[in-house]
Amino acid sequence: MTTDMGMPPILSPEAADKAVLLAAPRGYCAGVDRAVITVEKALDLYGAPVYVRKQIVHNKHVVADLESRGAIFVEELDEVPAGQTVVFSAHGVSPEVHRQAEVRSLKTIDATCPLVTKVHHEARRFANEDYDILLIGHAGHEEVEGTAGEAPDHIQLVQSPADVPGIVVRDPQRVAWLSQTTLSVDETLETVAAIRERFPDLLDPPSDDICYATQNRQLAVKEISPNADLVIVVGSGNSSNSVRLVEVALEAGAKSSYRVDDASEIDEAWLDGVSTVSVTSGASVPEALVDGVLAFLAERGYPDAQAVHSAEESLIFALPPELRRDLKAAGRA
Ligand code: SF4
Repeated sequence: MTTDMGMPPILSPEAADKAVLLAAPRGYCAGVDRAVITVEKALDLYGAPVYVRKQIVHNKHVVADLESRGAIFVEELDEVPAGQTVVFSAHGVSPEVHRQAEVRSLKTIDATCPLVTKVHHEARRFANEDYDILLIGHAGHEEVEGTAGEAPDHIQLVQSPADVPGIVVRDPQRVAWLSQTTLSVDETLETVAAIRERFPDLLDPPSDDICYATQNRQLAVKEISPNADLVIVVGSGNSSNSVRLVEVALEAGAKSSYRVDDASEIDEAWLDGVSTVSVTSGASVPEALVDGVLAFLAERGYPDAQAVHSAEESLIFALPPELRRDLKAAGRA
């Protein structure tokens, strides 16, 4: 249960010196919501199994739940029997993966978040204009692999300001940058500043690549961190935006911060001497997991959480057109 800031909760004597602050917004973003619903509806419509390339979103509970309903998660398309249906994850895929699917006659449903697709478009446009593209992101992340695959001859990865001295470009006056959607806003600005120092004519993307949900969740965790003894971030270890929230919480003044997949991973020792606990969750985290953390805290004498609102979100993305078409044909639109 939560109360809104400005309406002081009635506290039991043992909870009087304790507080729980809950970030808002937190949890599911529009891209994750769309991707999860895509797999659910594909299972309803086509029946199990429905194959999914990579984790549909980076949350182990979401993946386990969909697996229990008949989704089969694979790393690469050669694990999918020819002719079967495969869903591409929210993180996006390179054109080469689309080609492989065609060769194997797979029916594809592309659940790539539209905000990742936007970055793919930017990559293609800069490459068509023959810019060298510096993609700020984390090596090995699926989204980075998908974006880089749009223009492999033009894109090079930059992970931090430390990489900037080693960048080699063909023409210093024709350099552009793009980024992964789930990075730390502040760190990315530092990296861009370092790149611009070397390449003053650096071309910016037409709009922010770090998505609204990542930005809002970082803003929200900054609100609940300065007076927090402990910030608990709910999210999986392979969730880039969740891992960033721990870093942002510590930078914003939290005395300690930990990421957990769910309440079972909370170490009781983290609560020693802790008055204020702040809680948030990454963009791929179902709210039930946050509820579990709040219940854990309540059992240990912490009061109801006070929600701290820092931004409103109302964005919803339409389902992938290929799925909408089939739903409509089946009279289930
Ligand atoms: S975190 Fe951002 S880019 Fe990723 S799925 Fe959500 S809205 Fe899309």
